[in-house]
Amino acid sequence: MTISGTQLAKEIKENVRERVNEVVKKYGRPPHLVVILVGEDPASQSYVKGKGKDAEEVGFKSTTILQPDSISEEELLDLIKRLNADDEVDGILVQLPLPKHIDEDKVIETIDKSKDVDGFHPANVAALWQKRPCIYPCTPKGIIKLLDKAGVEIQGKKAVVIGRSNIVGLPVSKLLLDRNATVTIAHSRTQNLPEVTNVADILVVAIGKPKFVTAGMVKPGAAVIDVGVNRDPETGKLCGDVDFDACAEKAAVITPVPGGVGPMTRACLMENTLECFLNKMHLQHQ
Ligand code: NAP
Repeated sequence: MTISGTQLAKEIKENVRERVNEVVKKYGRPPHLVVILVGEDPASQSYVKGKGKDAEEVGFKSTTILQPDSISEEELLDLIKRLNADDEVDGILVQLPLPKHIDEDKVIETIDKSKDVDGFHPANVAALWQKRPCIYPCTPKGIIKLLDKAGVEIQGKKAVVIGRSNIVGLPVSKLLLDRNATVTIAHSRTQNLPEVTNVADILVVAIGKPKFVTAGMVKPGAAVIDVGVNRDPETGKLCGDVDFDACAEKAAVITPVPGGVGPMTRACLMENTLECFLNKMHLQHQ
């Protein structure tokens, strides 16, 4: 069975839209999401456009700030500080990657933790690993929602995550662990990867290599979540890290690319923005 991220994302956004209508009545304004894009990378431009479109769809105020590649680190940090201080800005997202002369860690740290809709701020990351209240990073949060929607049991299952990045592999492993899966994290130095993946009831793949996971690496009946976004070298079309056609025959549930994790990431961004807005309003109206 293919799990449609597009459909679930639509349902999540409809729910956010309804809640936005209520908060506008209660607080007099909708949540405001600001997305900063530095440079003109086509993939980043398309991601930012998608985020803006979703934000408008759910009824947020949406602002996209475009900055040239030549912006200095100091200028970008100043811009973020101004947005931090602006009471009418609820969520700040800086599209990654940034040009090499800008330190991404510094940028992420500068975003006010309470406006960190991506969940990348070190304080948010620490809270996630310490099981304290935090903003869940969008892609891992979306993956868990996809598994739940498909009725996949997580507790007590063997989960294998290929990839250990800060934005996908590590946090999704933590969320699976918190749901009582037994988690193995594989990476580029893992020996005999198929031996590791073949016991996985849940296989999450976040590598960035087109069609890397073949049918021989999938346990029959597994749930396969494909996070990768790549271009198929043969067709030039968008494809995941998983050879979808071959693996779909063995997996009980599988996500497609496009239309799987991608739309869920954006839907969770909308949820996170609303959450940041509500946290602020609750504090102000206490
Ligand atoms: P990343 O930071 O480049 O990390 C890639 C991970 O894959 C690393 O941990 C690396 O291992 C591992 N890896 C690379 N080659 C491998 C191999 N041959 N065998 C096993 N592991 C291998 O990537 P990322 O940011 O996590 O993103 C991964 C993919 O997900 C990309 O295609 C990205 O575009 C996509 N993505 C999609 C969404 C979405 O919303 N759909 C969101 C974020 C990312 P080492 O640690 O040993 O180097």
